[in-house]
Parts: sequence; C-alpha cells; structure tokens
Amino acid sequence: SIVVTGATGHLGRHVVGQLLEKVPADQVTAVVRSPGKAADLAARGVRIAVADYNAPETLDGLFSAGDKVLLISGNEFDKGRPGQHKAVIDAAKAAGVALLAYTSAPGSLTAALADDHRATEEILLGSGLPYTLLRNGWYHENYTENLAPVLEHGAVVQAAGEGRLSSASRADYAAAAVAVLTGEGHENATYELGGDVAWSFAEYAAEVGRQTGREIAYRPVSVETYAGILTGAGLPEPLARILAGVDASIEKGELVVSTGDLSRLIGRPTTPLAEAVAAALGN
Ligand code: NDP
Repeated sequence: SIVVTGATGHLGRHVVGQLLEKVPADQVTAVVRSPGKAADLAARGVRIAVADYNAPETLDGLFSAGDKVLLISGNEFDKGRPGQHKAVIDAAKAAGVALLAYTSAPGSLTAALADDHRATEEILLGSGLPYTLLRNGWYHENYTENLAPVLEHGAVVQAAGEGRLSSASRADYAAAAVAVLTGEGHENATYELGGDVAWSFAEYAAEVGRQTGREIAYRPVSVETYAGILTGAGLPEPLARILAGVDASIEKGELVVSTGDLSRLIGRPTTPLAEAVAAALGN
C-alpha cells in the first residue's frame, strides 16, 4: 500500500486528500502520532497507524514489503531530526519497501535549516532502499499564512534584500509527491521542486497592497535585526536564527529553483503566489 507519515500535518493532509482522488482508501495508510487528529481520515476509510519518530519500537511492523512510503520530514528541530528520520528509514528497510520518498530541501540551500535534510538524504542513500528525493522549495504559505503583522504595520519586513525565491503552494508539492507515489519510474530520482515564477519581497508587498487596496511597503532589514524581530514575536532564539539564516540564503538566490521539475511532475503550472495571497485574505 501507500504509506504517508506526518499525515495530520499541513502537507500530509494535502497528500492524503489527493491520494484519495486516485486510489481506493484501503490502499492508503496514514501514519500519525495522535489518532484523534486523524478521525476524519479514518472515517474516509484510510488505514490509520500510530507511531512516533522518537520511539523506534512504534515503527516496527508499520511497513510491508512492496509498500511505497512518503516520509514527511518532522518539525521538532531540537530532537535530532536525522536520527528520527533514520528510525523510519531503518524500519522501511527491514520491511523491504519498494520506494521511500523523502521531503527534503533544495540542493542549492546552504542555510543551517538544510543540514538535517542533507544528513537524512545521506542516511537514505546509504540504506540502499529505492528512494526519491523530493527537494521541496519554499511554501507560499510560509508568508501568506503570516499576513497579520504585514497588515498591522503596512509593511513586509524580511532580511532578504532584493533576493528572489520560487515558492509554490503546499498543494503543489503534495501533488508532486502523489505523482511519485502513484506513478512509475521515480526510483533513485532527485527532483528540485519550486514554483514556475520567482518573486521578490517588493513584488510580494505590492501584490498584498493590490489585493487589500492598502499601501504595503517592503522594508528590508539586516539578518540580525530580523532575528531580533522574530524573538520579539515569541520565537525561541535558535529557531529565529535559523529562519533569519534562510533570508540570507534567499538574498543569495538559493531558493530559486529553475528546473521545472514541479510543473513537469504535476502536469500543470504551479499555483501563482497571487492565488495564495487571495486565499489567505479570503478573497
Ligand atoms: P507541519 O508542521 O504541519 O507537519 C509536520 C508533521 O510531522 C506533522 O504531521 C507532525 O505530526 C509530524 N511529526 C513531527 N514530529 C513527529 C514525530 N516525532 N513522530 C511522528 N510524526 C511527527 O509541516 P508541513 O506539513 O507544513 O510541512 C512538512 C514538513 O516540511 C515539516 O515538518 C518540515 O520538515 C518541512 N517544512 C517545509 C517548509 C517549506 O517551506 N518547504 C516550511 C515548513 C516546514 P502531528 O500532526 O502529530 O503534529
């Protein structure tokens, strides 16, 4: 069957929802930490398996020979994500799965945020399992789901200078994962995934301004200032540093993905940023 970890996360929900449009529900297994969060998926006939990346014994017996697995990277930065992912890879290897696809980060990204992904890729390649690297670029939603401070201050504040990035919607990346899980010929492939159009924060501010009818400026700040703003907003300092480091990478163009892999895999253009802005504003 097709097994999806992180199935109750934002991306995982898109993946499972799109899988159900293509394959019967009893061929889909959602791996979750909290079955209560997956009640709606169970009601649709999806098999629910309860496991935690931190508890390898819960991963025993999770997979069967021939399964196609999507390992969605975790979000516990302080718990050693490569070790967590290794536990899943080891269990998949022991079971003899047919494919393990992993949601990684663009190969061009040198920010510290990419370290866990590079380490996981190494573990996966070293396992000898048939793999697919889904090197996901940035989500539109990283920005469009955080519009409140932009609207409050009339400004997009980032530390990316005039850098551009080619983000896409979570639904687009989910569609790529579904294409890999339900298609053929993706063994040992690496896909560099990103939106068709690269944009700058000045353009983003202009788009938010256009859709709200308000004056929205882009205010570039230094990486240190931005990290300070994030900690001021309540983020733990290490995470604030990591996110500010991503902006430094954006300024250098490291989140521009120009392979066309994403639109090719999903068979359509990627979702325009303006559409994600409209969805976030309820337009
Ligand atoms: P979410 O934070 O919404 O989802 C993370 C998922 O990982 C959740 O389902 C969560 O389970 C699961 N998870 C975390 N820790 C464990 C664990 N110890 N054991 C089992 N499951 C665990 O992120 P998204 O869905 O939006 O994105 C998916 C991943 O992509 C993120 O986890 C992160 O690694 C990465 N990411 C990528 C971004 C990008 O722009 N490309 C931006 C942000 C993150 P539960 O539902 O129980 O909480």
